[in-house]
Amino acid sequence: MTTRPTLFITAFLFAGLLSFASSAFSAERQWGVNRGIEQVSKSVYRWGSDNQYGAYVVGTRSIAVVDGHYCGSGTMDWLKQEIEKRHDMPVRYVILSHDHQDHNCNTQVFSDTATAVGHTNLVPHLVREKRDSMIPEITFETSMEIDLGGVAVKLLYFGPSHSDNLIQVHVPAEKVLIAVDMAKGRSLFPDYRDMDVHSTLKVMKQLAILEDVEIVLPGHGAISDQQSFSDGYKYLKALRDEVLALMVDGKTLPEMREIIKMEEFSDYRGHDLHLDNNIVTMWGYLYRYREPNQRITQQEAVECREDLSKCRTSNINE
Ligand SMILES: [Zn+2]
Repeated sequence: MTTRPTLFITAFLFAGLLSFASSAFSAERQWGVNRGIEQVSKSVYRWGSDNQYGAYVVGTRSIAVVDGHYCGSGTMDWLKQEIEKRHDMPVRYVILSHDHQDHNCNTQVFSDTATAVGHTNLVPHLVREKRDSMIPEITFETSMEIDLGGVAVKLLYFGPSHSDNLIQVHVPAEKVLIAVDMAKGRSLFPDYRDMDVHSTLKVMKQLAILEDVEIVLPGHGAISDQQSFSDGYKYLKALRDEVLALMVDGKTLPEMREIIKMEEFSDYRGHDLHLDNNIVTMWGYLYRYREPNQRITQQEAVECREDLSKCRTSNINE
């Protein structure tokens, strides 16, 4: 019974996100916009289209491709042809940054020569959600290294963050870090649906000072550097602090959606579009994080389930 409010909150958030998704994609989308490949260091290339990017790393023996692409973009077929044209070497590894469909779709184009690699937590998500993706045969818990001949690729897991299986791909000799969906910089995540917010803050701090990093390749947006972790951290922490303080103060979610403006971050990309979803999903995360001094009664939990404005987050009569 105690899980019912949580279920309701999840359903509420999901309904909100669905309505956002349907309005954002109601117009027919043009795919394959600005397809390109850019060499960013001796061995590392960034590829992508539609403002979504993966990478590949070329050694003396083989190539590792990082990530797939949007299912509808056709960019993976194009990438396979481009790699074959440009490099006389097989793709031996497909490294999957995390389970979100838009970052692993159509990776099977490489399954004739490659084995997929990812975090241990990745596999159940891919299988459960029936992602249109290669399933890793090689998995790891905290780190592993792939030798492509002459260049070492380090796969690093710092704990749950944007998802519970997101990894960082590091080529330390060339000071390149491929940080898909983590190097957000001055832009907002659409929401915190499957994010562990507190662990993400820790991971962002670690990435901001990781050694041997000069070039940071995000999954979306321009090539960056470690400042993008600090910028992302600043906003996420400020929003966490504000929602948490207002909860302790007894404000309801509808009140918070009115109050919170985050004006200091109004120049961050997506501020106008995503702030409300950010507040709602941060509230959902923090509702499950803390309990007021006077415990939520079963009756209150039921009321909260029926009407989010009734969810009590502080003591009565404070
Ligand atoms: Zn993602």
